[in-house]
Amino acid sequence: MNDSQNQQALDAQLDSLIQPFKAVASPLQEFLSDLYIKYKPLTEGKVADYIPELAKVDPDLFAISVVTVDGKVIEVGDIDQLFTIQSASKPFVHGLTLEDCGRDFVLSRVGVEPTGEAFNAIVLDESSGRPYNPMVNAGAIATAGLVKGDDPTAKLNRVMEMFRNYCGRDLYVDMSVYTSERSTGHRNRAIAHLMLNFGMVDQNLDDMLDLYFKQCSVMVNCHDLGVMAATLANNGRNPMTNARALDSQYIKDVLSVMYTCGMYDYSGEWSYRVGLPAKSGVGGGIVAVVPKLLGIGVFSPRLDSRGNSVRGVKVCEELSSHFGFHSFDLHDDHSKFLSSLTRTRST
Ligand code: GLU
Repeated sequence: MNDSQNQQALDAQLDSLIQPFKAVASPLQEFLSDLYIKYKPLTEGKVADYIPELAKVDPDLFAISVVTVDGKVIEVGDIDQLFTIQSASKPFVHGLTLEDCGRDFVLSRVGVEPTGEAFNAIVLDESSGRPYNPMVNAGAIATAGLVKGDDPTAKLNRVMEMFRNYCGRDLYVDMSVYTSERSTGHRNRAIAHLMLNFGMVDQNLDDMLDLYFKQCSVMVNCHDLGVMAATLANNGRNPMTNARALDSQYIKDVLSVMYTCGMYDYSGEWSYRVGLPAKSGVGGGIVAVVPKLLGIGVFSPRLDSRGNSVRGVKVCEELSSHFGFHSFDLHDDHSKFLSSLTRTRST
């Protein structure tokens, strides 16, 4: 068989797996299944390989999760597959430090300005000496330094408890990813020293970096990302467990920074095209939030040149345009989405 015959055979196989289940599926489930079939063959992009642990992942993995603020879960693909959260941890830790230190103090240490630079750029805002925002490495490292706790273990425990509230289950740090992040993280160390030079962080750089490397090495699955996003959409309360993960007064801070800075140096175009607060990570995960309605998690490890999951971006673009999720689509009252949850097909 040639490539296109192979592809057709694969599509037919996928379709036959999904057909029986489509007969009773909601239109949203069908829509996700169709997206899965459409983008499964897309092999553009490259898995992150700056540490060997990340390069080991199966590049074909693919999952989509949609979780509504009233706890409905619609998913497809490799939903239970674990991967490292990486930079998708940043908005959640940012939220924790807002609770710990308050908006004004956090803002005095980390700005909210998009950079247009790579996520790991060694650059600070010259006039203030602050890192530009909490979604780039500099800002996220400074943010990790603001987590309260008597010692490094207490701080890590608070981060893990925060993740538990968002996900509704205990997560863990993958020690081999963490060890690699730590032993290769010279650039992040350089960023931390630059911030120390500007008085933006306290002396204890090693502890701060260690917490940052650990938060990036937390293992999640795509369902977790969907629930975490839905928790932000639900004003900080986990829709499945009802646990409060973030004080509702800080939701707008977290979401607005995600909106303007969450997708590396694709953030402007993402906001324009998709119009949703989101954050991606080099593990291949994306969290996207439709405020007051739902959370989206996508996992697919092949990344584009900016570090965003190739399939993840496509899936979010399609979901947003099909259901009118763009934040400034003022025509949309979400009725198309709401009816897609409840109707069932007769055939
Ligand atoms: N651990 C990564 C780093 O700091 C985060 C990469 C990412 O997901 O952007 O380099």
